[in-house]
Amino acid sequence: MLGRVLGKGKGGRPKVRWHNGQKWTKPFSLEDLHAPYVCVLSAAQAAEQFPEAYGSYPVETIVKPQGRAKKSRKHRLQHDESYNFWKHCHKFSEGCKSCSMSLEEARRRNDPEDIRRCIPTHWKKPLKWQRDAAAAGVLKSVFACSYSDFFMAEADEWREDAWKIIKATPNLIWQLASKRTHLIAERLPADWGDGYPNVWLGTSVELKKHLGRLDDLRKIPCRMRWLDFAPLLEDIMPDLASYLEGFGWVNVSGEQGCKQIEPRPFDPQWARNIRDLCKERGIPFHHPQGGGKYGKAYPLLDGVRHFAAPPLLQEAKHDS
Ligand code: SF4
Repeated sequence: MLGRVLGKGKGGRPKVRWHNGQKWTKPFSLEDLHAPYVCVLSAAQAAEQFPEAYGSYPVETIVKPQGRAKKSRKHRLQHDESYNFWKHCHKFSEGCKSCSMSLEEARRRNDPEDIRRCIPTHWKKPLKWQRDAAAAGVLKSVFACSYSDFFMAEADEWREDAWKIIKATPNLIWQLASKRTHLIAERLPADWGDGYPNVWLGTSVELKKHLGRLDDLRKIPCRMRWLDFAPLLEDIMPDLASYLEGFGWVNVSGEQGCKQIEPRPFDPQWARNIRDLCKERGIPFHHPQGGGKYGKAYPLLDGVRHFAAPPLLQEAKHDS
C-alpha cells in the first residue's frame, strides 16, 4: 500500500499521505497536489482506495511523491529540492515587486538586501543529496537560488565554490534561474563547454520589454533552457512566438498577492495563448498558479491542470 487515507480534507475530499520509500509525507488533500508527484495507481486501485473521490478525479491525479516536494509562494516549479548558496537580492525589474523572498525575510525582520553567503554546513547539503541519489540510482532536480539570483554580481566571490558543488553532484539536475541574463555568459566556469550535463539555465520574464532575456540565454550553450513567466503581467503574445526557439520548458504564473501586496491583474487567456504556442511546438507547459490575492495552486485551464515537465536526463545539444 503506497498511500493512506487519513480522513476527509477540504470540501470532503480525502486527506492522504504517502510513503516515498523513506518516510511519510505530511498529510495533504488531493486538491493540494503539485507537480513532483506521479501516478502509481491503476484505475482499479484508485477506485478501491478512493471510493468516494474516484470518478471525480482523473486517475493521473492519484499519485505518489517522488522525493520531497517543495512548495513556495512564487516558485511552484517542478523540482525535488530548492537550495540557496547565498541569500538575498536587490530588486531588479517589475516582477520583483511581489518577490516572495523579500516579503518572507521582511516578515522575519531580516534585511532582504543584505546579501550573504549561507553557512558552511548548509553547503554540505547537496553533497548528501548526491550520495543519496547516487545510492538510489536516481536523478533529483534542485532549484537554485530561490532566495536570490545565481548570477548576481554581488555573489561573484562565492560562485566558483558553487560551481565546484554543482560539478560534484552529477545526480542533481540544477535549475539555475536569473533575471540578470546579461551577466551569465561571463560568469560561467572555464570548463563549461557545451554546458554541464546537470545544469539547466532559466530566466523569468514578466513583460514584453524583457523578452530580450531569452536572446541572452539562447546564445549560451546548455542542456536545457527554461522559461518562467512569473508573475506574468501582460499578454506576451504574439511577440513570444519569435523568441521561443531553443527553449524546452515553459512555466506561467500570475502574481500572487498577500496582506501587503495587491496582486496585479492576470488574465487566464494569457496563459492559454502560451499553452497553445507550446503545444504547437511540443514544449512542456506548466501552470502552477493563476495569481490573485490567495491564488489557487494548479488552476484549471479549460478544465485541465498543466503539470508538464521535460525529462531530467537531457541529451547534449550541439545546435546552439
Ligand atoms: S531578482 Fe528574484 S530574488 Fe531578486 S528581488 Fe527580484 S524576484 Fe526577488
